[in-house]
Amino acid sequence: MERERAVGNSESVRCRLSSCLLGRRPAGPMKIRLKNIFVIYFIVSVIGLLYALMQLGQPCDCSHHLKSTSELIHAKDKKISQLQNELKRLEAVGKAERQHIATVTLPTIYAITPTYSRLVQKAELLRLSQTFLHVKNFHWIVVEDSATTTRLVADLLTQSGLKFTHLNMETPQDYKLKQNDPNWLKPRGVEQRNLGLQWLRENRELSEEGVVYFADDDNTYSLQVFEEMRFTQRVSVWPVGLVGGLRFERPLVEKGKVVGFYTAWKPNRPFPMDMAGFAVALQLLLANREAKFDLLVERGYLESSLLQSLVSIEELEPKADNCTKVLVWHTRTEKPKMKQEELLQKQGLGSDINIDV
Ligand code: UDP
Ligand code: MN
Repeated sequence: MERERAVGNSESVRCRLSSCLLGRRPAGPMKIRLKNIFVIYFIVSVIGLLYALMQLGQPCDCSHHLKSTSELIHAKDKKISQLQNELKRLEAVGKAERQHIATVTLPTIYAITPTYSRLVQKAELLRLSQTFLHVKNFHWIVVEDSATTTRLVADLLTQSGLKFTHLNMETPQDYKLKQNDPNWLKPRGVEQRNLGLQWLRENRELSEEGVVYFADDDNTYSLQVFEEMRFTQRVSVWPVGLVGGLRFERPLVEKGKVVGFYTAWKPNRPFPMDMAGFAVALQLLLANREAKFDLLVERGYLESSLLQSLVSIEELEPKADNCTKVLVWHTRTEKPKMKQEELLQKQGLGSDINIDV
């Protein structure tokens, strides 16, 4: 009886299972619960499977992680470029400082330029100033041959950007060239150069390193000539182009010493050289306070009048590759013809005198 019940029970479970699997609706509450369990299990599995499959194809949502990484990289890049800029700045400061030290220790070049009022004056001085702007440690001493300094020259100097001293000294009437005199008749720029020397003696100390050059306003100067003269001990010399009726005049050099001069005009002068062909150490001029140009000397002897009291031929320091290079030219500017201007002036129609030329 017990066994029959047990057999009967197992029979009934098998029957209920098979009827579930076969989709037959089993009778009774126990059969419904089993089916539900299967259905729920099946649905949950399918959903789980689908979800897992969907996740496989989806890109992972790493944006937050990526964002913080890129922010970090960005911050590092910024820091690197800041450091690079700081490095550049320090390099520039170092370079400027080195240049500054090199510049302040360079001897100053003092160029003394006599000048006088004429139609080409502004053009000459402007051309010169723009050359001199390229020369380090340069001081321009401009001395006008006039009773007062003029506005034209003062404005030009102020606007030039150069370190300058502006002086004036009128040539005594007896020594002044007349309008139609040939320019060789009288010495030119003598009192003006001497005033420049006087200014240096009154304003510079013997301890200061420098060199003095007499730079007429109509010559042509290469920048190289200034570097040649920079470290003059006493008097340095070099060739001058287009002078003395020759292509050039020059000191003749043997074994590094000046032994004579290549010149055709008055070769027996003590120093047969043009004003543009030498420079004198500032200290030598300060130590010899009487040395100056002589207004009264014979034509052609002006340079000699200064140099004779300062140096001997053997002491001259040849520059420009043993005086084989022409680095300065005794160019002369043609006097402009004003025929039309004069005609118009007679009719009261001359050009506006308020416009500087
Ligand atoms: N100079 C001057 N007053 C004059 C004539 C000339 O101050 O009456 C100046 C001129 O400006 C120049 C220098 O003296 O800087 C030499 O003059 P210039 O060039 O006429 O002489 P050259 O070239 O014939 O030696
Ligand atoms: Mn000249």
